[in-house]
Amino acid sequence: QAQRLEGNDKNVWVEFVKLAATYSTVNLGQGFPDFSPPDFVKEAFVKAVGGKDARLHQYTRVFGHPTLVKILAQFFGKLLGREIDPLTNVLVTVGAYEALFCCFQALVDNGDEVIIIEPYFDCYEPMVKMAGGTPVFIPLRPVRAGKLMSSGDWQLDPAELASKFTKQTKAIVLNSPNNPLGKVFSRKELEVIADLCAKHDVLCFSDEVYEWLVYDGKEHVRIASLPGMWDRTIAIGSAGKTFSATGWKVGWTVGPDRLVKHLRTVHQNSVYHCATAAQEAVAQGFQREFEHYGKPDSYFVQLPQELQQKRDRLVRSLSAVGMKPIVPEGTYFLIADLSEFKVPDLPESDEPYDYRFVKWMVKNKGLAAIPVSAFYSTPQKKNFEHLIRFCFAKEEATLKAAEDILQQWM
Ligand code: PMP
Ligand code: GLN
Repeated sequence: QAQRLEGNDKNVWVEFVKLAATYSTVNLGQGFPDFSPPDFVKEAFVKAVGGKDARLHQYTRVFGHPTLVKILAQFFGKLLGREIDPLTNVLVTVGAYEALFCCFQALVDNGDEVIIIEPYFDCYEPMVKMAGGTPVFIPLRPVRAGKLMSSGDWQLDPAELASKFTKQTKAIVLNSPNNPLGKVFSRKELEVIADLCAKHDVLCFSDEVYEWLVYDGKEHVRIASLPGMWDRTIAIGSAGKTFSATGWKVGWTVGPDRLVKHLRTVHQNSVYHCATAAQEAVAQGFQREFEHYGKPDSYFVQLPQELQQKRDRLVRSLSAVGMKPIVPEGTYFLIADLSEFKVPDLPESDEPYDYRFVKWMVKNKGLAAIPVSAFYSTPQKKNFEHLIRFCFAKEEATLKAAEDILQQWM
């Protein structure tokens, strides 16, 4: 085994996806919708593989299928209010996972520090380490313990954040809307981060895969749109989340050529490109959304409206049984606080409480979730072992079945 793999062999998805497949009847664990993508992208995929254009079965342009990079440049150009060049500012990847991997491999060196905000999407930590970097963690802390908590009540302490920037800091990973908390960083919060990036000449890897999934009329602010940030930001997106098609594995990065060109080096020497037909279907999807931008029949308008109702339904189901929900401002996810929800006789082991709780729940109640300590660094795990994450991007029938399990619990 190469040394860089050391300590990176455990993976929460490998473990809990298998557990859910084996025991669960209702799976609110791994984040994927159990409903279909919209017809216009499904039809575009069918047309891509079944149509007359034989080229869509073959290799395409290494850094992104021409129709896809073109429309991504147009779309994000409009969102960011700047000219974006499809050939140099956009790179299409195999999901946001590959986009993240390219960022760390291309731009983080041995000895570099990378700031990660906790709780964080778990793969950031092993990816930084495999690149030879050192993760430096900073926690979001609940600043208010109200009756019904919101993800907005979890905040960074600006002085604590500033103290994490050193001469070794190469980049900060921002994930807004945040997985697993659902926090949507406000413009003011982003300005604090942006100022520190500029002051210390630090890059920002901005994981925005949930960019369309924002609730209660909140605004998703793109950090690349703040003054001075375009030149030091790589924004990362995912068609999986954008079009409810996580299995298609189409992702992208948008950023300045001076950074993206190094990502291209990693990409051309590892993955080369992502499935042509899937890229074509995603291009058609963006084309349709570009034409319907901001209109009531836009998928990017409708999907968050539907998900917000699902969120509210799960909030009610959990509240009714005393699993205190932290109401998310965005994403597929909702964290429940188990501090006042006890189950008798959880098997003892050296695993954190939330791991033991979820394993017990899947096996005994058939309901799958994800332990939140998986989204924390080792020293913090024990401070956050009373939280579990549920995915509410599910059909009404699935959410009803989860509610039934919760109600019949005792
Ligand atoms: N970033 C975050 C925050 C995620 O939740 C996920 C999982 N969807 C990814 C990146 C990876 O996305 P993809 O499925 O497009 O590889
Ligand atoms: N991003 C998804 C989640 O957080 C899935 C990640 C995975 O399966 N590797 O649930």
